[in-house]
Amino acid sequence: MPFDTTTLEQTGEASQPLALLGDRLPGLIFQCYRSAEGAIRFPYLAGADRRVLGDARQRQRLAVDGRHAFDRVHPEDFPRLMVAVERSAKSLSLIATQVRLTRPGGSEAWFGVRAQPEPHGDGTLWHGIMVDISEQIAHQAHLRELSDTDELTGLPNRRKLMSCLDHQLSLSCRHGTPLSLILFDLDHFKRVNDTWGHLKGDEVLGRLSELCQELLRGEDMLARLGGEEFAVLLPLTPKPQALNVAQRLRERVAGHDFGLPRHRLTISLGVAEYRIGESREALIDRADCHLYIAKESGRNRAVGSAEE
Ligand code: GH3
Ligand code: MG
Ligand code: MG
Repeated sequence: MPFDTTTLEQTGEASQPLALLGDRLPGLIFQCYRSAEGAIRFPYLAGADRRVLGDARQRQRLAVDGRHAFDRVHPEDFPRLMVAVERSAKSLSLIATQVRLTRPGGSEAWFGVRAQPEPHGDGTLWHGIMVDISEQIAHQAHLRELSDTDELTGLPNRRKLMSCLDHQLSLSCRHGTPLSLILFDLDHFKRVNDTWGHLKGDEVLGRLSELCQELLRGEDMLARLGGEEFAVLLPLTPKPQALNVAQRLRERVAGHDFGLPRHRLTISLGVAEYRIGESREALIDRADCHLYIAKESGRNRAVGSAEE
């Protein structure tokens, strides 16, 4: 497509098939010109999705002043897009990125953007395409959700806990804020399965997850590590408070009727507070060591130090 600053959309001069394509193409094709001074305009714009950049009059304006096209870019994506544009102009390399745009009706859509630059006059001219990729993005989010979730309880799984733990540890190191971890394990759970069957065991694990979740704050993360082992990540929480939470969890479980005749289900818990600079594994090991002590010293208890 020749570069022509006066052409915005298909005109009578364009051949009929191309005009139809411009109208019906499920996406948006464009030319974007940026002068050496940084002034941007869109001399060419076509495709069924060109409406994402406003009504006909607004799009007409883009041929002279392209700034308001960027008003539709999600604020979180705007800096990344600008970096991509800058880098592309400097190295004349392809822009290949994804951004959220607000459609005229207010709904948000993800667009994949690819644009090839070339020097033009004293500025840069990009030839680009944009396609709505909202469905793919939603599908990816769904897959990520599945890979982060324990199927039986619906809780975050070990993988998710580990990535959140890494994130929280780095925040704790940077800001010097406290962070605690509780590990807990059902007592004599094998007996539940042996006596009432595996299905009942599964039901108990589900109910236990709900009970514990009800007791925790929104920012705490309860996760199932696997089997009948769980963890609670408590941001901004020093050990005395974490021990308090652990005791409340213990009491809640011990006091609940899981529908197991003549059987009281209990849990044992190990608590550890993060020591700035130590590794993730060192923190988990200390909580695990305290859980082991809780088991060894009779179960149905919460332990926060190796001296107990
Ligand atoms: P302890 O107090 O020492 O922890 O004893 P325990 O019986 O709980 O521990 P053990 O490690 O011997 O047994 C764990 C049991 O948890 C055995 C296993 O069948 C059961 N279990 C692990 N995952 C699941 C699950 O997803 N569903 C059910 N129903 N049971 C499970
Ligand atoms: Mg157990
Ligand atoms: Mg166990």
